[in-house]
Amino acid sequence: MRKKIFVRTYGCQMNVRDSEVICGLLRKEGYKFTDEVDKADIILFNTCSVRQHAEDKVWSQVGRFKNKKGTVLYENRPLIGIVGCIAQNYKEKIFEQAPNVDFVVGPSDIDKIPGIIKRIFRGQSPSGTVPSTLFEMKIWETDGDSRPEEIYHTGFYEDKEHAYVVISEGCSNFCSYCVVPYVRGPLRNRGYKDILKEIEEAIDKGITKITLLGQNVNAYKSQSQCVSLPEGDKVTMSQVNFIDLLKIINGIKGLKEFSFITSHPKDTAIELFKAMEDCAKLKKYLHLPVQSGSDRILKLMNRGYNRKFYLDLINNYRKIVKGGQVTTDIIVGFPTETQNDFQDTYDLVKNVQFNAAFIFKYSPRPNTQAANMVDDVLKSEKEKRHRLILELQKGISKEYAKSGY
Ligand code: SF4
Repeated sequence: MRKKIFVRTYGCQMNVRDSEVICGLLRKEGYKFTDEVDKADIILFNTCSVRQHAEDKVWSQVGRFKNKKGTVLYENRPLIGIVGCIAQNYKEKIFEQAPNVDFVVGPSDIDKIPGIIKRIFRGQSPSGTVPSTLFEMKIWETDGDSRPEEIYHTGFYEDKEHAYVVISEGCSNFCSYCVVPYVRGPLRNRGYKDILKEIEEAIDKGITKITLLGQNVNAYKSQSQCVSLPEGDKVTMSQVNFIDLLKIINGIKGLKEFSFITSHPKDTAIELFKAMEDCAKLKKYLHLPVQSGSDRILKLMNRGYNRKFYLDLINNYRKIVKGGQVTTDIIVGFPTETQNDFQDTYDLVKNVQFNAAFIFKYSPRPNTQAANMVDDVLKSEKEKRHRLILELQKGISKEYAKSGY
């Protein structure tokens, strides 16, 4: 009988796309999928490590599948795999925290998941029917530094009309609070021809809308590639940057609409806004995380821009991209954040009038620079600051909703 897999995804759109990639690979191997966790032979948690809260949710779910008898090994239990950012962050230590987990796979090793599952099932009795002690075999794969291009071409999409397309993996910015560069590695850009091929394959399957994904899409630059010139045999080297990529994608036949996330303010410039205005199929939507309105905190966060730079970007965006929407991310309670620093953030939100804002309470993440700082803003103060910005933003969003914007 074909084995059934249950996949639960936590975190960002990058994880959503990674789960599709994993499902696509497993489907090719003949596995079936189920929405009912209790009927699954294999349970995969594709995890997020960006905030403590996200991690806690995963641990509590994984804990549900502990052996009722209190031992790790028992018959007919599902295999449990932890995939993604928690896997990379804690590696084999996960087996100590959650002994019922069978395998751990980091984001750059997801192509190995079908092979790992096969190996574990082969570790059962030779006939494959009776679980043996080999079922206790624990596997972790967290050393990969790149993904094979083929994994993006399995043709598996959750949605019939919309697809996420990864243009770059990892991040080299090292914002001081962020775990992403440690768990997803340095920025690696996919070749633009590979990206275009994936989009065309998706369109052939009926997809009409896409979202380009990267931790910092504005930093996209393809490797130099050889290009044959139509007028002769001459060959030149060309490099495609993010703006070029947008323009090329805008010309793809069959594509109705596309968008991108996430932009980093330090790599965002007027040229992007002009391209957004010029590309008819590109959604007039910009997610531009500000994180804080205080120059002092932005510096401690290692964000690479200041308040004025950010506000100038927003002004230019609104001048150039007519009717464009803008959303942001904010962290309150970063170490040493004073009442004045918080007020700067509050005032910035009031000033910009974002269409939406995603507001988070700071929590230290292992291995990051900020984890070495004292997490000195009281929990109650973080909650208060979170509530104040949330209320402010709710009022702003309500006004937009009233005006139908
Ligand atoms: S840009 Fe900063 S916040 Fe975003 S993924 Fe990279 S390090 Fe993290």
